[in-house]
Amino acid sequence: MLTFPKNAPPAFHVLGKPTGAICNLDCKYCFFLSKEMLYPGSRFRMADDLLETYIKQMLESQRTPEVNLAWQGGEPTLMGLDFFRRVVELAEHYKQPGQSILHSLQTNGTQLDDAWCAFFKQHNFLIGLSVDGPRQLHNAYRVNKGGQGSFEQVMRGWNFLKKHQVDVNILCTVHAANADYPLDVYHFFRDELEAQFIQFIPIVERATEPVLPLANLGWSARPGNDRPLYVQAGNLVTARSVQAEQYGRFLTTIFDEWVRRDVGQVYVQLFDVTLGSWMGQHSLCVFAPTCGNALALEHNGDLYACDHYVEPDYRLGNITETHIIELVASEQQRKFGQDKLDSLPEYCRACQVRHACHGGCPRNRFINTPTGQPGLNYLCAGYKLFFNHVSQPMQMMANLLNHQRAPAEIMRWFAAEERKMAELFSQAARNDPCPCGSGKKYKQCHGKN
Ligand code: SF4
Ligand code: SF4
Repeated sequence: MLTFPKNAPPAFHVLGKPTGAICNLDCKYCFFLSKEMLYPGSRFRMADDLLETYIKQMLESQRTPEVNLAWQGGEPTLMGLDFFRRVVELAEHYKQPGQSILHSLQTNGTQLDDAWCAFFKQHNFLIGLSVDGPRQLHNAYRVNKGGQGSFEQVMRGWNFLKKHQVDVNILCTVHAANADYPLDVYHFFRDELEAQFIQFIPIVERATEPVLPLANLGWSARPGNDRPLYVQAGNLVTARSVQAEQYGRFLTTIFDEWVRRDVGQVYVQLFDVTLGSWMGQHSLCVFAPTCGNALALEHNGDLYACDHYVEPDYRLGNITETHIIELVASEQQRKFGQDKLDSLPEYCRACQVRHACHGGCPRNRFINTPTGQPGLNYLCAGYKLFFNHVSQPMQMMANLLNHQRAPAEIMRWFAAEERKMAELFSQAARNDPCPCGSGKKYKQCHGKN
């Protein structure tokens, strides 16, 4: 019987990396490719006895009824299907009374076929599929080892997933190449892929001045180059990184479309999480006051503070030497999570949208506030733009939920508002104040033409 240490959380999340950083693609912004350098000479394959140790420890450490066994990479499908058959078998063997297991896997989709997708369906896997938008936008950075775009292979994988009716979450990174095309990206997912679940993930690749020129070339090994290991250091970003306000505009543009047409039909993780925060809940570590309960497990059993901190200073230990619950509850890890709150600059503490943002993820807190205090989030301007923009509709949807009504009812309100505005515009005379509320005359504003 496991004894729980004093500071053990009731539940925690781990991203397992059975192939470490090894991937069959060479996405230019994927700094995780450089983590291969942490394990020189390794075969990068999680061994069966380690897998068993991990699943046993993981399941006996959780004190909530549902446990998520999540796999990522690198590219986890490079382990082969038998590895995941074994995952399911071990999970069934070690699950605790009353526990249910949610299996999930993040993939680039290129290895998928009928056998994989039938297996996913049979065992209710939730699949995160990385797609950055329509062909041209996707291919900007998501390339194979030969530098060719991966769009065709990913769509092939998507079709297999669809054919087998597997639950899929589209994971779309937002970067310099696609950030100015929010509706092209969103319409592609909604109308062409008919995706129901979408996550947007900002690309922010930090670098110091000496590392930046190499970082701009990408993070994979190249003959003859001095390959840098990605660590959370430096206050510069690569050319591929999204800019803060650009990210905010990307999100608000999609939100405006979604809130008028797609509430209850398309689930955008950030919109759901934001609505939760308007109701006092924090389901995503990035926007929670503290963190520390989302860790990463390397292929050899090394446990790290977070998927974004797989680097020597944040290695907690190895689960073959110390039980995972001891590492999760360790002072080092509890401090890691509490530091998110303790290091919040005054500027964030006084911010109007702090309740939704909480300063964002510490990995991106590398700029100064307007008064020169360090530790402000690089994405702050975008977050401010987005959270302020959605404030009123979020409040309305929260009110609906509090009255046991569906948030989707907000779409009727927007439709009525739009009809009302159309009528006001049609009746406005050239010298009237513009009905949009700009304070200008109609002829100098919406009535210009
Ligand atoms: S460092 Fe960022 S991504 Fe990692 S657990 Fe904390 S908030 Fe989440
Ligand atoms: S929007 Fe900016 S100032 Fe406000 S909490 Fe977020 S990071 Fe801090």
